[in-house]
Amino acid sequence: MGVSVSVLASGSRGNSAMVCSATTRILVDAGISCRETFKRMKAAGEDPSHLSAIVITHEHSDHVYGLATLAKKLNIPIFMTGATHHCWARSIRNATGEPPQVSKLEVFSAGRRFVVGDIEVMPFTIPHDAADPVGFTFHSEGVKVGFATDLGYVPVSVRDHLRGCDVLLMESNHDVEMLRIGPYPWSVKQRVMSRVGHLSNDALAEFFCSDYDGGATYVILAHLSEQNNHPELARQAAEKALGPRANLLHNRVLLAEQSEPLEAIRL
Ligand SMILES: [Zn+2]
Ligand SMILES: [Zn+2]
Repeated sequence: MGVSVSVLASGSRGNSAMVCSATTRILVDAGISCRETFKRMKAAGEDPSHLSAIVITHEHSDHVYGLATLAKKLNIPIFMTGATHHCWARSIRNATGEPPQVSKLEVFSAGRRFVVGDIEVMPFTIPHDAADPVGFTFHSEGVKVGFATDLGYVPVSVRDHLRGCDVLLMESNHDVEMLRIGPYPWSVKQRVMSRVGHLSNDALAEFFCSDYDGGATYVILAHLSEQNNHPELARQAAEKALGPRANLLHNRVLLAEQSEPLEAIRL
């Protein structure tokens, strides 16, 4: 019973998570292979055949890598924006010569809420270099969960959507100094640092210090770069910014990982 959040994988090699109520189970992004998704779900005590729907943030491969196979195998509704679907379908067609088989496509628009079972989903626009990228909030049983990864900065509209969350999953992608001196070519560094790139530890800390209401029970740091960040740097930056608001009752900081699922959070 209650609402749970399970992060199956997080990072530039694949992102996928589950938001569940007592009767509804949503997979958020499908960035790891179908086989790996099923394996990690089973390890978390979840049955893939019980999934209600898949919702997609944007078409970058670390968010859709397993989607075509999952859609075919599970035959459940796949929610994405029209522009995201267009780009994703084109890339699958270019790679395989065939468009993907999605029998239950559900097109949504950023800013318009929709419902999956007893979970209300609110997609909102985020600044990122994809066709029509979104973050989500999920509402069920009086619990609000917010997801915002893959964003170059935190605009006012996103700050507004993230108010009142009980679980907040936020990008803490890179340490600016590690990225600056790290191995990426300069063009890639510029992309990551841009207003449509990825959120740094410092930019997330600035959000925590300014507009964040401090009310979440859990704060999950997600989409950490393996090259340009260190989990302890991300944790320290977040905990410093949260200050005394991070304690046993509120703002417990957790780190989502690439290679291991995070133990399910239950509220
Ligand atoms: Zn992306
Ligand atoms: Zn990503």
